[in-house]
Amino acid sequence: MKIKFIGVGAAFAASEHYHSNMLITAESGKRLLLDCGCDARFSLREAGVDIYDLPNQINAVYISHLHSDHIGGMEWLAFNTFFHKTPRKIDLYMEKEMMKEMWDHSLKAGLQYIGDKDMILSDYFTCHPLKETDTFRWEGITPTLHKMPHIVSPENTLFSYGLMIKNDKKNARPLFITTDTTFQEEKMLSISDQVSTIFHDCETAAIRTNVHAHYDELKQLPEPVKAKMWLYHYQPDMMTQPVSDGFIGFVQKGQEFEFP
Ligand SMILES: [Zn+2]
Repeated sequence: MKIKFIGVGAAFAASEHYHSNMLITAESGKRLLLDCGCDARFSLREAGVDIYDLPNQINAVYISHLHSDHIGGMEWLAFNTFFHKTPRKIDLYMEKEMMKEMWDHSLKAGLQYIGDKDMILSDYFTCHPLKETDTFRWEGITPTLHKMPHIVSPENTLFSYGLMIKNDKKNARPLFITTDTTFQEEKMLSISDQVSTIFHDCETAAIRTNVHAHYDELKQLPEPVKAKMWLYHYQPDMMTQPVSDGFIGFVQKGQEFEFP
């Protein structure tokens, strides 16, 4: 299995770094897009995907949560697969309440009407609604959802569903992708014991949004945890010195990791 970061930037970072979406390639060659932000048509093309042949290039998509740097490209993906010369529905995996919310509050406005037919989400995608701690199987890997608190207010918490991904056939430890989360020290300590690698979202700007773990918070983690940690979803103009602080480093746009 390979994971390519087609983007590494924060939601408001400069466009050349693209949104923090990833392309997972299974040993079979099939591809799963992990989040589809509003610049996916640019980042996918730069990653070598033929964006005029999406039904044959992307086999599945997983959505972690509903910010536009993670779902802003879904209308584009839906129309491009539906109106392709050989249309094929892409498999869509996501937590089930969030799937409903994505349709009702985001995609329905643009995707509901085509000619004389009222469309629903499953007209565009083969939907796989998941429970919040589910594990699903896809092409020899088993991703498990981890509910991460992304935006916490006294009234509400918006979660993002990170993934622990295990290779079915291999004894190797799984890897973990946080997607978007606030700093979760206890959870990271526990996850670190189980995995070989952690890809953690990381805010680097001086002004904090308090919806992502900040570099200065992650820096306080124990050395063995940081030694497994790659950082992404950053503001590239605010780069610090990750290696001297004990991290493996910042993921670069286009960087691909192989997990044998
Ligand atoms: Zn977010």
